Amino acid sequence: MKKTKDNFLDVAYFSMEVAINSEMMTYSGGLGVLAGDTLKTFADFKYTAVGITILHEQGYVKQSLDSAGQQISKSVLWNKEENLTKLPFTIEVPLSDHVVVCAIWQYNIEGQFGDIVPVYFLDSNLPQNTEYDRTFTSHLYGGDRFYRLCQEQLLGLGGLILLEMLNYNSDKVRIYHLNEGHASFVGLALYEQAKKLFSTHIEVIDYIGSKLVFTTHTPVEAGHDRFLISDVKHTLPASLFEKIPQECFLEDKLCMTLLSLYFSGIVTGVAKMHEKVTEKMFPEYDIIPVTNGAYHLEWTHPDLKKVYDEYIPEWTIDPSSLRKAISIPDEKIWDAHVEAKKKLIKYVNQFSENEFSVDVCTLGYARRFTSYKRPALILADLEKLENMISAVGSLQIIFAGKAHPSDEKGKDSIRGIYEIIQKHQGKIKMIFLEDYNMEMAKKLVAGVDIWLNTPLQKFEASGTSGMKASFNGVPHLSVLDGWWPEGWTEGVTGWSIGKNSSEARIDDLTSWNFEVEDLYQKLATNILPLYYQDRLGFIKIMKHALALNGSHFNTYRMMNDYVAKVYFPLKNGLNKKW
Ligand SMILES: *Cc1c(COP(=O)(O)O)cnc(C)c1O
Repeated sequence: MKKTKDNFLDVAYFSMEVAINSEMMTYSGGLGVLAGDTLKTFADFKYTAVGITILHEQGYVKQSLDSAGQQISKSVLWNKEENLTKLPFTIEVPLSDHVVVCAIWQYNIEGQFGDIVPVYFLDSNLPQNTEYDRTFTSHLYGGDRFYRLCQEQLLGLGGLILLEMLNYNSDKVRIYHLNEGHASFVGLALYEQAKKLFSTHIEVIDYIGSKLVFTTHTPVEAGHDRFLISDVKHTLPASLFEKIPQECFLEDKLCMTLLSLYFSGIVTGVAKMHEKVTEKMFPEYDIIPVTNGAYHLEWTHPDLKKVYDEYIPEWTIDPSSLRKAISIPDEKIWDAHVEAKKKLIKYVNQFSENEFSVDVCTLGYARRFTSYKRPALILADLEKLENMISAVGSLQIIFAGKAHPSDEKGKDSIRGIYEIIQKHQGKIKMIFLEDYNMEMAKKLVAGVDIWLNTPLQKFEASGTSGMKASFNGVPHLSVLDGWWPEGWTEGVTGWSIGKNSSEARIDDLTSWNFEVEDLYQKLATNILPLYYQDRLGFIKIMKHALALNGSHFNTYRMMNDYVAKVYFPLKNGLNKKW
C-alpha cells in the first residue's frame, strides 16, 4: 500500500542533544552523536521521521586550556541563520502561570537517496518572553536544576505541541521515541490526551504503551534526572501534575526515568551489558538490548572510503558488506591508513613542539572527560611503561575531550594529564588537543593506530567512538564494558584490558592496579611487538576490526534491530508492567 508521506510519521524522535555537524554546537557527546546518526539513518531508510530538540544557541562549551591546564569553558553563539530555516509560526508552551513562546528552526537531514528527515529546534529567545524564559534554549546542560526542568518541559510538552501544529496528532504518529529521559513529559502529556479518547485506564495505558519507546543510557543512579516535586508542581500545568503516577516520586523528587518507564511500552538499553546493569537498577522492568551503532558514512575517513568504494562498492548502502573487507589487499588498507595518519599527525604537529611522527605507534583517547571514564589510567606509571616498551619501540598518545564546566573532577583530570604532558621528559610523546568535536573525532578515529578506552567497568552504557574507529580499521584496546564485550575477540578484533567480569562493579585500587598492569603488559609484549615487528599480523587485526565490527556496529544494523524488536512488535507493550 502506498503511504502518503505527508500525513503519517513512523517515528518522532526526541533528544535533548542532536549532533548533526561540528558547526552546530547542539551536542555534548555520545548521546547527541547517537541521535544525529540515528536521524541520518532514518533518512537513508526512507522512514517518515522527525527529530525534536532544543536550539542551544550558545552551544555546550567551547574549550581551551590555560597555561596550567585549567579548562576554560566559553559559550559561543553558533550561526543558526546559516544552518537552519526559521518556520513561519511559533508555538506556546505552558510553564507556571504563563506560556513560553517558541520559534521553530528546521534543519533537513538528507539521506543518501535524497529523502529528508527534518529536525526541529525549539527557540525561546523571543522578545515576547521574559528575560529568564528567553534563556531556556541557550545552553545545553547549563544552568541549575530549575533551568533544566524548564528545558525538559519545553522539549517534552513543546515537542508534542509542535507535532500537532505540523498536523501530527497521536493517531498519525506510529512511535514516539525518547532518547534518554529528558523528554519524559511526552509520556505524561500523551496520557492526558489519551484519557479523552478511552474510557478505561487499561485502554489508555495500552494506547500509550503501543506508541512510546524509551531508550535509557545511564547506568549510574545519580545520572537519572530528578526534580524537586515543588518545582514540578510550580512549572507543570495542574492538570498534568495531578496525573503523575505516585510511583514516579522518590521522596521529595520526581524521577524522570521512572516517568518514562511507567508510560513506555518498550524500554531499551544501548548494549547487552547495559541491559543487565539497567535491569538490576529497575528490576520490575524488562529492558530490551539494542546495541548502538555509528553511522558508517559519517565516520569513515575519505582515505578509507576510497578503498571500500573500489573493493566493496555496495558498502555505502549495505555496511554489513564490510565483512568482505577481509579480502582487501593488506597494502591497500595499510596505505589508506597511513594517509589518514599523515593528515592527523600534520594536524597534531600544528599544536605540538614535539614532532609527532607517522612511524610511531599512536594511541588515541578522546571522549567526554568525567571520572568514571578514567582518562588518566594509562598514565598511572609512565616510567614503568617506558621501561617495559623500550626494547620494542615507542608510543605516541593523543588525548582530547571536554569536561562539563561544573564537573570539577573531570576538569582536574584534564589538568592532571596536562601537567604530566608538560613535565614528562621520556620517550613517549603526548598531547592534549583542545576543543574536541565531531570534526576532530573524524581525524582521530581514523588516524591513530589504536583506539583506547579505559572506563570503570559497568559505567559505560555503550560507547560509540570505538565503533567509529572500527570503520577505519583501527583496533580497539578497551576495558570490557559497553559494546566491547560484544565486539571483542582477543587478539583478533582488538584487545581487552582487565577481566571480563560479570560481577558487581569493582571500584578499588586493586582493580585499578590490575588494569594498569594488564594494559602495560599487553602493549609491551603483544601489541607493540605486533605493530613494529609483524606488520602483516597487525594489519590482519585491522581488517578483522573492520570486517567483524564495522560490518555490525553500525546504525543500519541498529535500525534493523529497532524495527524488529522495538518499533514493529510494539503492541500492548512488552514491558513487564503491562
Ligand atoms: C563519538 C563521539 C563521542 C562519544 O564517544 P564515546 O566513546 O562514546 O564516549 C563524544 N564526542 C564526540 C565529539 C564524538 O564524535
